[in-house]
Amino acid sequence: MARYIGPVCRLCRREAMKLFLKGERCYTEKCAIEKRNFPPGQHGKTRKAKLAGYGLQLREKQKVKRIYGVLEDQFRGYFEMAERARGITGVTLLQLLEQRLDNVIYRLGLATSRPQARQLVRHGHFLINGKKVDIPSYQVKQGDVVTVLGRTQKNPTVEHAMEEVKGRGIPEWLSFDQTSITGRVNAVPTREQINLPVQEQLIVELYSK
Ligand code: SF4
Repeated sequence: MARYIGPVCRLCRREAMKLFLKGERCYTEKCAIEKRNFPPGQHGKTRKAKLAGYGLQLREKQKVKRIYGVLEDQFRGYFEMAERARGITGVTLLQLLEQRLDNVIYRLGLATSRPQARQLVRHGHFLINGKKVDIPSYQVKQGDVVTVLGRTQKNPTVEHAMEEVKGRGIPEWLSFDQTSITGRVNAVPTREQINLPVQEQLIVELYSK
């Protein structure tokens, strides 16, 4: 599956918020949002566009796509799945994205960012219910158990991420046992547990035109 490979701090600056795409650096003063919180490009500093209607809806969609590292076609696929499912479309959309395996690895604190989690998944470092899964978009379900391959448990990247998550915490819908280095999906996340400052209703409005 294709992915964005350009400069990522630029994406945060475009959305005027931290999207946490670079792991540890995002929590330091080196973060581009701390230093240059204005849109990228030649006229970024001077452009003072007031967003409304379509502009607002578009920015909200771009923000969510960029947070989860999903490109347009795949994102629309998630939206169509959410539309077909029961419940509130916007919330279901976020739940589907949140249940991606790469996001779960990030949320469990086995990677410092979603892009890093995606790479670790791609390299086959994790098992779901005892079976190796190397698809970042794999949807976890309630009751799934995520284990880390034996050799990966000593991987400095994973060890470092586990240290870092102690300050970040793990959402309630997941749990993690530090001794056996095993994660568990306790439930489908509620909207309150998906700690993202986005207005998903605007995305629904955008795609419903
Ligand atoms: Fe975004 Fe992280 Fe870059 Fe800051 S350091 S601009 S949060 S990717």
